[in-house]
Amino acid sequence: GMITLALSKGRIFDEILPLLAAAGIQVLDDPEKSRKLILATSRDDLRVVLVRATDVPTYVQHGGADLGIVGKDTLIEHCAEWGETSLYQPLDLKIAQCRMSVAVPVGFDYAGKVRQGARLRVATKYVNIAREFFAAKGVHVDLIKLYGSMELAPLTGMADAIVDLVSSGNTLKANQLVEVEQVMPISSRLVVNPAALKLKQQRMRSLIGALAAGVEQEFNPD
Ligand code: AMP
Repeated sequence: GMITLALSKGRIFDEILPLLAAAGIQVLDDPEKSRKLILATSRDDLRVVLVRATDVPTYVQHGGADLGIVGKDTLIEHCAEWGETSLYQPLDLKIAQCRMSVAVPVGFDYAGKVRQGARLRVATKYVNIAREFFAAKGVHVDLIKLYGSMELAPLTGMADAIVDLVSSGNTLKANQLVEVEQVMPISSRLVVNPAALKLKQQRMRSLIGALAAGVEQEFNPD
């Protein structure tokens, strides 16, 4: 049977291509030029399905894809929502690296507020990660769930702080926000459907092995 790999467009798609190439696999369509959702590869038993980043764990969990590539941020939120489920997480692909951080408007005394035990209004898409993080620090927060553009929340007075992904820091800077604390480092993970792993054992294991070798090569070249 066919092996189906779930990917999201953008950073993850762009950064997985060299790792797939190292495993001898080329994706035959460019998602930026075509509207296809199912992409053929140079291996006739492997195809790529393009889904939203937050849908990748769902596709893999429910067997719409045999494996998928998803940011640690999205994966933690998915598991918090749906339980540890049955997704295997065999490999950190070390792509799409960034960090999840707390940011506040320039001039906001975050450390002081935390010291005083003040209640903070925090806007984020990552409510489960944020809840855990502030609970572990003993900081009282009112979480406001957003689906995009978290930077706007403090600028409109709706929140004191945000929890968001930071890469270059340019987005924060452009909105007069500063990073005050790191929550966790983020990178993309391979997730695997356990039933598919059993059914297509040999080819799945060799694909996972080839990706692992690609990661090693990319990040620890001799
Ligand atoms: P930057 O301006 O480079 O710090 O990028 C920050 C913005 O890009 C944030 O709003 C994030 O949502 C997004 N971003 C940065 N890195 C990643 C990543 N590895 N995966 C997904 N989104 C990211």
